[in-house]
Amino acid sequence: RFQAMIVADVGGKPKAAFGTLALSDLPDHEVLVEVAYSCVNYKDGLALTGRGRIARRLPMVAGADLAGTVVESRNPAYRPGDKIIVTGWGLSETEWGGYARYQRVKAEWITPLPEAFSLKEAMAIGTAGFTAALSADALEEWDICARGAGEILVTGAAGGVGSMAVALLAAAGHRVIAATGRPETQAYLADLGAAGFVDRAALAEKGPALQKERWAGAVDSVGSTTLANVLAQTAYGGAVAACGLASGPDLPATVMPHILRGVSLLGIESVFAPAAKRARAWARLARDLDRAKLAAMTRVEPFARLPEIAAEIIAGQVRGRVVIDLATE
Ligand code: NAP
Repeated sequence: RFQAMIVADVGGKPKAAFGTLALSDLPDHEVLVEVAYSCVNYKDGLALTGRGRIARRLPMVAGADLAGTVVESRNPAYRPGDKIIVTGWGLSETEWGGYARYQRVKAEWITPLPEAFSLKEAMAIGTAGFTAALSADALEEWDICARGAGEILVTGAAGGVGSMAVALLAAAGHRVIAATGRPETQAYLADLGAAGFVDRAALAEKGPALQKERWAGAVDSVGSTTLANVLAQTAYGGAVAACGLASGPDLPATVMPHILRGVSLLGIESVFAPAAKRARAWARLARDLDRAKLAAMTRVEPFARLPEIAAEIIAGQVRGRVVIDLATE
């Protein structure tokens, strides 16, 4: 038997706790994986603390991402020994996820481990880094750089998605301004490539529908009034990639930036991203993500510490990314 973090129905409420499973308990998918690492995304924090209803059927093995080695495969595309990753695809929501030493997954969910990365590095990236790469791709597709070297704002900058977005956009040659509520992370963010800072409190209060044009583009992992202000400060023809809701799911905004400045709001979704977008995002990560910077934004924790890390990420206290080492209990 092996350890897993399982969300189960306790008195009508979903509750996460360590439990044990046997291989025969796992879903009957084609590929059996020995999971080496998973990681902690904001969504995992919601699932483990009970702050959000992430699991849509119970019992559910939590963990949105996994990286490991194929043990058995009924699909000829994968063989024992292959190193693979899975991010998204409903893991921890509708499908059993990465917080277990073994998991069975569908072949179609698998991304072969990119040559540039180890299994641990792939989980340091995880859904957060993948989402940051999707956001950078979306902004560049919008042709942000052709619009004339303006600054790109990243909100929630010291978090997982934010740290990755700062590093990726700076590496791609953009001038990146980091909005953070933690001034103590400024040296860290400057090392990742941030050229300047905004106090997140300055974006938190509801502001005018149109404000001074400051940003050629933005990656927003915060939502709510922050996103409304970012849109109101985006320059003519710019675009904002909306990928998160760390401060709330609402959007108290007006259409003014869109209809008077041609500003676009680009929606970023990582769970069901199609193959071509996935390949492009991982290619960007392989090309642009400096491995020393990736190491600087990552800490590795044993499986047993998972509940504490979940509480930390919901409290906004995690800097960068946390990898969970499944082999160390
Ligand atoms: P995270 O590591 O906790 O980062 C979130 C950051 O947001 C925090 O570090 C903090 O940054 C800032 N923040 C937190 N609470 C805030 C508040 N009340 N007001 C303003 N800023 C606040 O989480 P993550 O894993 O990077 O995820 C970030 C967001 O992206 C989450 O909402 C997550 O659900 C979403 N997400 C979406 C997708 C997708 O497919 N669209 C994929 C992954 C993640 P500072 O300390 O620097 O201020």
